[in-house]
Amino acid sequence: MTTPFINRGNGNSGFKRLPIIAGNWKMNKTVDESLLLVDEMIDDLDAIEGVEIVLCPPFVALYSVLDLLEDTGVGLGAQNMYHQNSGAYTGEISPLMLREICDYVILGHSERRTYFGETNELVNLKVKAALKHDIRPIMAVGENLAQRQAEETSAFVTAQVREGLAGIDIADIPTIVLAYEPIWAIGTGLAATGAMAQEVCALIRQTVAELYTQEVAEQVRIQYGGSVTAKNIEEFMSQPDIDGGLVGGASLNADDFIQIVVKTLEVSSKK
Ligand code: PEP
Repeated sequence: MTTPFINRGNGNSGFKRLPIIAGNWKMNKTVDESLLLVDEMIDDLDAIEGVEIVLCPPFVALYSVLDLLEDTGVGLGAQNMYHQNSGAYTGEISPLMLREICDYVILGHSERRTYFGETNELVNLKVKAALKHDIRPIMAVGENLAQRQAEETSAFVTAQVREGLAGIDIADIPTIVLAYEPIWAIGTGLAATGAMAQEVCALIRQTVAELYTQEVAEQVRIQYGGSVTAKNIEEFMSQPDIDGGLVGGASLNADDFIQIVVKTLEVSSKK
């Protein structure tokens, strides 16, 4: 796997993290609808350089969408994956099935944790399985409203990061994307403020530094997710520890998603 950085190209020996916007379509869009949506936005998205873009349609649309993404710079991701390669796991999808199709896989999304009982331990197995098969994990973490109100956010998110990354080789860390998604902000229209998101994203980076090294922590890309729109993406992207967005609802509208990517580029080019 190559490491996703833009060289500053200005004699500065440092590297800039390549911003990454992923669209999580969740359980929306039939195959035909998926193709229509991609068709509406692919030319504009493909014309944008300097932001990594990943579309995560439902499993059944992956193959058809892949056809439309071929020869473009837009990547494809799955929304989930089981950690075993094959076997008696009815209804599950394995890394072997995804590895030739997908660049990324979202793992540990709060909807998986809440509705399907996914634990940090299971998420960790899935992250390891994805890495083993050269699929880049987007590992999602985030607290619920009760945890935030009880001031448990730091302890909870830190544990999710520590347990989700347990036993992962330092060489793989820069290829993992971490997504901070406060559950109370997902699909509610109540996004976090830039400052709130920055505080937790900085903590996530600090946790990676404690687990590995500061140098490797500086290479990890951290997304914010939770009611991201074309109106608020600039506030998030202006934060030093936020490198992109995991976008749900707004990724289902071509104009909105294109605007989110365009604004991401504008802000990140000034960082
Ligand atoms: C998500 O799906 O991860 C998400 C953050 O959804 P939304 O943007 O709709 O809040």
